[in-house]
Amino acid sequence: MRAAIFDTFGAQLEVRDLPDPAVPDDGAVVRVEACGVCRSDWHAWKGADPDVVPPHVPGHEFAGVIEATGPDCRWFRVGDRVTAPFVLACGQCADCLGGEATICAHQQVLGFTGWGAFAERVAVPRGDFNLVALPEGLDPVAAAGMGCRVTTAYRAIADRAALRPGEWLAVHGCGGVGLAAVMIGAAMGAQVLAIDIAPDKLAAASAAGATLTLDATAPADVGEAVREMTDGGAHVSLDALGITETFHNSVRGLRRLGRHVQIGMPLGRHAEPTVPLLELVYSRQIAIMGTRGMAASRFPGLLAMIEAGRLHPGTLVTRRIPLHDAGDALAEMDAYAGTGVTVIDRF
Ligand SMILES: [Zn+2]
Ligand SMILES: [Zn+2]
Repeated sequence: MRAAIFDTFGAQLEVRDLPDPAVPDDGAVVRVEACGVCRSDWHAWKGADPDVVPPHVPGHEFAGVIEATGPDCRWFRVGDRVTAPFVLACGQCADCLGGEATICAHQQVLGFTGWGAFAERVAVPRGDFNLVALPEGLDPVAAAGMGCRVTTAYRAIADRAALRPGEWLAVHGCGGVGLAAVMIGAAMGAQVLAIDIAPDKLAAASAAGATLTLDATAPADVGEAVREMTDGGAHVSLDALGITETFHNSVRGLRRLGRHVQIGMPLGRHAEPTVPLLELVYSRQIAIMGTRGMAASRFPGLLAMIEAGRLHPGTLVTRRIPLHDAGDALAEMDAYAGTGVTVIDRF
C-alpha cells in the first residue's frame, strides 16, 4: 500500500510502498477514503508526542470502507462505511465498560502508538468496540473532517462542560477544533464568543455561528474584555489552542461557577502554567477540566445532530489534497496560518 512516512522527527514525509497492515483477529482493515490533517499529527511529526517512535505513518482522522475483518470481529462486515475514535480502547476494562473509553489504561492511539491513516489502508483493533458506522448521508471527506476535532469539541462541550442553551460559551483559538466548538455551541443553543488573533479565523468563526468575536490583540486584558462582552463572564470557556496565554485568558474570562475545559494539548513551556487559585478557583469557584478524545459510544449523539441538519462538519473542510501533499500540509502548520480543516482524499 502507499503511505506517507517520516524516518526521523521533522524530516519531510515521503510517500512509499509499504506492506499492508495485518488484519487483527478482533478487528478490521479499512480502505481509507479520506483522512484529516490535524495539529496533533504535526506534534507527532515534530517529536513532541512521547508515544511516537519513527519511522512513523501519522493520521488519526479517517473514514473508509471495511476491506477485511478478523474472525472475532462480529458486528461489522466487509463493505461497511466506518470511522473510529483515535483512542482505540480495550473494550474490556472497568473504564471501557463504564462508558469512559478515553481513559482506558490499555488503549492504543491511532497514528501515535501505532501507524495511522496517511495510507491506503489502516488496521483497527477491537473492532466491535472501536468502529463506528457512518450514516448514509455523511460523505467520507466530511466524516474525516469531523475527525478528532468535532468529536473532541463535542465531548468538551456536551459531556465535560454540560453546556446549556442560552449560556455564554467562550472559545479561545479558532483553528480546527475551535471552529468545531463554535459550530457545536451554536447548534446547542448557546451564545458563542469566539476569540483569536487572526481576522480570517474570526470571520470563519462568525460564519460557523459565533454570536460575537474578539480580536485578542486589541484589549490589554482579554479576560476582562470577555467578561464585559458576556454580561459578567462566560459560563463555559475553552482553551482550544493549549498555550499559557489562551489558558489564562480562558479562566479569567469565566463568571462565578464557570467551567473551563482544556482542549488544546499544552506542550513544552506551556505544560505547567500558574493557576490563580485564590482569585479564580477558590473565590470565583470556577472548575478546571480536561478533555481528550471521545469514546466510540458517544458518536450516536453527534451523528444524530449531523443527520438532523443541525451540524455541518463538511463546511469545516477548506482544502482537499492528495496523499503526496500531506508532508507540505504538515510543514505549513509551523506558521499557525490557514483556516479550517485540510483533508487527504486521494491516495
Ligand atoms: Zn479499556
Ligand atoms: Zn486530530
